[in-house]
Amino acid sequence: MSKPETLDLTPGQDALLSWYDRQKRDLPWRRDRNPYYIWVSEIMLQQTQVATAKPYFETFIQAFPTIADLAAADIDQVLARWSGLGYYRRARLMHDAARRLTEDGKQLPRTAQELEELPGIGPYTAAAIASIAFEQHVAVLDGNVERVLCRLLAYDENAKTAPSRRLLAARALELVSAERPGDGNQALMELGATICRPKSPKCLLCPVSDLCRGKSEAERFPVPRKRRRPRAVHLSVALTLDSDRRVLMFRRAESSDLLAGMWELPHHVHGDTPPVDLPDAAKEVARQLAKTYGGSWSVAPSEAQVKHSITHRALTFHIHSARLEPPFDQVMQRRTEAAWVGRDDLDRHAMSSAVRKILKRGLGW
Ligand code: SF4
Repeated sequence: MSKPETLDLTPGQDALLSWYDRQKRDLPWRRDRNPYYIWVSEIMLQQTQVATAKPYFETFIQAFPTIADLAAADIDQVLARWSGLGYYRRARLMHDAARRLTEDGKQLPRTAQELEELPGIGPYTAAAIASIAFEQHVAVLDGNVERVLCRLLAYDENAKTAPSRRLLAARALELVSAERPGDGNQALMELGATICRPKSPKCLLCPVSDLCRGKSEAERFPVPRKRRRPRAVHLSVALTLDSDRRVLMFRRAESSDLLAGMWELPHHVHGDTPPVDLPDAAKEVARQLAKTYGGSWSVAPSEAQVKHSITHRALTFHIHSARLEPPFDQVMQRRTEAAWVGRDDLDRHAMSSAVRKILKRGLGW
């Protein structure tokens, strides 16, 4: 196979742009080049599909129409709008960045290099914002673009190493017109998302198929990485209701590495083996809850499970009905924040998709 550096990709620029002009999807953040909208969309689209992000984007922009509005909002309001999207650190860092800009009286910077200095903006996001909002001629190498490039070049090295990424980014830039870098990058991303898909790419509709060296065996590229098997983690989670059918929840500390400031249910982590569901096991959960949260608990054997996967972990939540003996003061004062949350109050409390699934399964909420 000939070497990737022998293929000139620049002839693909015009074909790619005219295809994009005809075929681009109507997405709410593309309707104008508002840099703030592009920033929000790029942060949301990290780890999230376009179709999932779209409704969140619209309600987020409605709630916080400008960077100043986002900066002025309380983090709880921001997290509540992000609830369900996952990777909540993204929202916290964007909020921090908005505050930093507003305090310094600055606009969003215009170059990738300066953008990278803001919290939550890595090289990929910086390049996307700088090129789409400010027409800087830099390459945006997301997963879609990486796949397109690996196929075009029939690149059979591991695409994730630093030298590979540098090479692919440089080659991607050959396909991006210096006159319209924002559209050029979006065209490449769009091509990967809609035509050069991971399975069954539509090569007959591809505007750069004439250049493509890998199309006859497209699904072979990029060469697969060895996947780490997700680690199984079992947790017992307690649905503890008061006499008004409100559920007891705790707010995680702001300093938590994971899900900081989000509301969660009282729980005990068992580790990688499932708890044995006998009355004695439920008693052990009650003991552990008392140790963690204080108070005196009674816990019924688990009757339902919810499974949820996050990066590298396959979580199984064993749902228990639980009772906390009054008085509650000791428990309510022990943690950063505790509350009895009613079904109608859920939207005011930012919580992960896993917690929402558990409330739905266990309480029908
Ligand atoms: Fe992808 Fe096929 Fe286009 Fe090559 S020809 S870039 S494999 S869609």
